[in-house]
Amino acid sequence: IAPDTKSLSAENLVMCFGGLVAVKDVSLTLKPGEILGLIGPNGSGKTTVMNMLSGVLQPTEGKVLLAKDQLTGMNSRQFAQRGIARTFQNIRLFTDLSVYQNVLVAALSTHDGEGADIRTKAALSRMNILHLATEDAGNLSYGDQRRGEIARALACQPSLLFLDEPAAGMNREETDQLMEILRQLSTDLGIGILMVDHDLKLINQLCDRVIVLNEGRLIAEGLPDEVRKEPAVIEAYLGK
Ligand code: ADP
Repeated sequence: IAPDTKSLSAENLVMCFGGLVAVKDVSLTLKPGEILGLIGPNGSGKTTVMNMLSGVLQPTEGKVLLAKDQLTGMNSRQFAQRGIARTFQNIRLFTDLSVYQNVLVAALSTHDGEGADIRTKAALSRMNILHLATEDAGNLSYGDQRRGEIARALACQPSLLFLDEPAAGMNREETDQLMEILRQLSTDLGIGILMVDHDLKLINQLCDRVIVLNEGRLIAEGLPDEVRKEPAVIEAYLGK
């Protein structure tokens, strides 16, 4: 897995669903090797922002750039081919396929067949699930399925990885193991990680920097310890 060194930036993103303005003028950057947390109350626009940053949704206004290259208008496959991979809040593994096959499909979707087996095994190994390669994905524990999802993203050899609630449903031990793996992805491989999670303890422990959304707007940005003391952030969380 060879990351390049490009930063992702979003400029003045707006997303309208009919009359609802779900995201209002959000700008952010994600650098290689950085772990950035995206937090905020339910419905504040976190998933919508992640969807725009990964080509799942086209922004109503604004731009998404990888270094100086425009990604706006591209689909999620084109984002993945440029090194931006993601997981979803709900698990999307093919339950009738083996764990290996699930990850292989992802490896093949962004690169040609050469080296796909190696990329697949490397991704499974990174996530500590290589020993489960021949199991049906549907037979895995919940935590292992979540790891399988991240392995699928890693098989695309991303330089940037977006995770939507990666620890949802995991127990504390599984969450701690996941944190260790994510930290290694950022430090060993230089992967930039953008992560949405409700577990603020996880966010505080793992993230180098945090962005807070409320009602579609970016209301705070900075170190986790500083951001959570800001009155606007406290009010946003207490107001719900
Ligand atoms: P979060 O991830 O912070 O919980 P979302 O990004 O899922 O927030 O949602 C932000 C707002 O946009 C919410 O009001 C939600 O109901 C609305 N929304 C999200 N996706 C859609 C959609 N596809 N169509 C209409 N409204 C949507």
